[in-house]
Amino acid sequence: MPEAAGATAAPAASAPRPPITVKLIPFGATRKAQMADYSQRHYHQHTWKLTNPKAIVLHHTSGATWEPAWWTFANNTAYESIPGKPEKPGVSAHFIIDKDGTIYQCVPLTVRARHAIGMNWSSIGIEFVQEDHSGKDGHWMDRQILARTAQANAGLRLVRYLQAHFSIKSKNVVGHATANASPYFKDYTGIKNAAGDWFAPEVKAFRARL
Ligand SMILES: [Zn+2]
Repeated sequence: MPEAAGATAAPAASAPRPPITVKLIPFGATRKAQMADYSQRHYHQHTWKLTNPKAIVLHHTSGATWEPAWWTFANNTAYESIPGKPEKPGVSAHFIIDKDGTIYQCVPLTVRARHAIGMNWSSIGIEFVQEDHSGKDGHWMDRQILARTAQANAGLRLVRYLQAHFSIKSKNVVGHATANASPYFKDYTGIKNAAGDWFAPEVKAFRARL
C-alpha cells in the first residue's frame, strides 16, 4: 500500500526499495506446516506466518558464493537446534547478499524463515556471503563484509528499506551472535543461539552506517 501523507510517511520516503533478485526457495504447504509445528514447539504459536517483524538478524554464510547457501535453504534438510532432535523445516533466511552487492530474496517476507533460535517469529534474516578462513574468527569474517563496499552498501540499503517499511528501530538490527539479548528473543524449549556471526562490535559498526 502506498504511504499516505502523514506522520509515518517520512522514513519510507528516505529509504527506497533496493534492486532485489527474487529467487525463492520451495516453501509449499508441507514446509509451511513444518514451520507452524516448529513455531508451536518453540514459540507456542501454531503459524508459519511472519506478521509485523520487529527485528532484523544479520548472518554470514560461511561460503564463498551465494549458491551453496541458497541450496542449503532449498533442500529443507532437518537441522538439530536441540542436540539429538533434528527438526524440520530446514534452515533458511529471507535474503542472501552476494559479495558484488546482488540481493537475492529466498523467502517471502510474509513467511517465517528458520535462521536464528528464538527470533524466527519476530525477525527478518539476512545472510552476507563470506567464507571461513582458517585461523580467523567471526569478527574477522564480518569485518571483510564491512570492508567490501558493494556488499556492505547493499546490506545497508536493504536494512534501511526494511526498517522504514516495517518501522524497525536500529537497536533491533542485531547479529546472530547478539540475538539472545534481543527483547524479541524467546524460545519455550530453553535453547539459545551459540553463533559466531555478527558479534556486538561489528553490529555496532553496521548500525553506525544506517
Ligand atoms: Zn547465523
